[in-house]
Amino acid sequence: MTPATPFRDFALHSDDAWNLVCSVEAVGPDLLCRVHGGDTHIGAVALAEWAGGRACAEYLVADGHREDRIAIHSAHQLCGASHRRVVCVAGLHFDGITMAEIDAISQSAFDLTSQAARQVADRRLQADTTASELFERITKRSDGSVREIESFLATPWTTLVDTHGPAAARSSAKHFGGRVGIFAPLYLSNACQNNCVYCGFRRSARFQRSTLSTQDSVREAAFLAAKGFRVLDLVTGEVSTDRFVDYVGDVTRAILENTDIDAVNLNIGSLSLKQYERLRAAGATGYHLYQESYDPDVYFGVHESGGKRDMASRLAGLHRAIDAGFEKVGFGLLLGLGPPAVELARMIGHADVIRTDAPNVTIGFSLPRIRPVDKGCSYEPEAMISDADFMKCMLFLRLRFPDAHLTVTTRERRELRDALLPIGITKVSAEVSTSPGGYTHSVETETGQFPISDRRTLDEMKWAIVSADLIPVLWA
Ligand code: SF4
Repeated sequence: MTPATPFRDFALHSDDAWNLVCSVEAVGPDLLCRVHGGDTHIGAVALAEWAGGRACAEYLVADGHREDRIAIHSAHQLCGASHRRVVCVAGLHFDGITMAEIDAISQSAFDLTSQAARQVADRRLQADTTASELFERITKRSDGSVREIESFLATPWTTLVDTHGPAAARSSAKHFGGRVGIFAPLYLSNACQNNCVYCGFRRSARFQRSTLSTQDSVREAAFLAAKGFRVLDLVTGEVSTDRFVDYVGDVTRAILENTDIDAVNLNIGSLSLKQYERLRAAGATGYHLYQESYDPDVYFGVHESGGKRDMASRLAGLHRAIDAGFEKVGFGLLLGLGPPAVELARMIGHADVIRTDAPNVTIGFSLPRIRPVDKGCSYEPEAMISDADFMKCMLFLRLRFPDAHLTVTTRERRELRDALLPIGITKVSAEVSTSPGGYTHSVETETGQFPISDRRTLDEMKWAIVSADLIPVLWA
């Protein structure tokens, strides 16, 4: 069967004295890989087939040759990366070399083919995304909004508030009765399988990881419940094993059974339908899954490794959560990753698609902006989103979706959060810790996901809401 997307042939050269070459070319729907260096010849051949969700390889090696490991490694890796049938031909010969040099050459060949496999995997994931029906529906829905958003962002904030502020306030009054919910995130774990270059929890960051026991999680939840919170967002890094998902389910159940918390929302990453079903059965009702960026080039550039690189799967994640029975879903962008007008238009397109497919589901939006994180993160976004543009994006969402929740977290400064309350923000966090155990132990600077700007207490946040002529609420 011919894959839907064409394959562009390529070749990689090793960056060392051996100048090995790994070339990959399409042969119809299949791939032919050659790994060679020194005197050209054929030493070993391997064939790998993609079957039952995994790569299976076999090989033949010429008499007196030892390239079998390289051939089978390459075929296996490229087959796993491409999901296509792969033949790898390996031939490496250098005269008068030592055992240590043979080992170095082998290692160089392994590294080179792993690099080629990564390129092939990236191309497949990008092709899967742009060819997906959902991506097509989202982009189709969003095309018409980009110009409108660009023009909105080009208009001074004061003009926008004068023109649209009253309508935004009326929306809030009509759909939410002027109520603003205050919630607290409860970070259960900072373990993560992904490498998102902008995040303090990324896998490559070196710090002591921790995952709260169920008992400690309940203690943290009880601490927040004693302060008056009734809604919690449970947050973790993304660990998509059944064991971890069942742990989150156990924690959810224990919190709902043993504390005064009434509602639990989850923000734990992209999972399978069955995993979402288990979490829904545990009692969680809301699911936040932030796409971060809807631009495939940007997306693949900042999500360096881990399951999150599968953009098509993440895009479909909210549909899976809804199919599993979640009643409230949250969309999110990491503002600053891509061009804001295009990104916002696509997130809106995504929400339109969900609204069409699941009209009874409650939707909400959050637009975290990129902030510098500690722990050696060197990522610099192309452009920081200004306060004014951030506020305009929020106002645009309020006008476009009068009945959707809009969340502004403690990443943002208090002045800015206060300024946004009158235009229809419906959810704010308060007294936040972004570290597992951070409420009952003071560990913020060690393991927080991002810096906190607004450190007001719950009472201070309530007072800010009242001062804006709105009603603070702590329940779902
Ligand atoms: S953004 Fe989420 S998935 Fe990415 S590294 Fe951070 S915790 Fe993990």
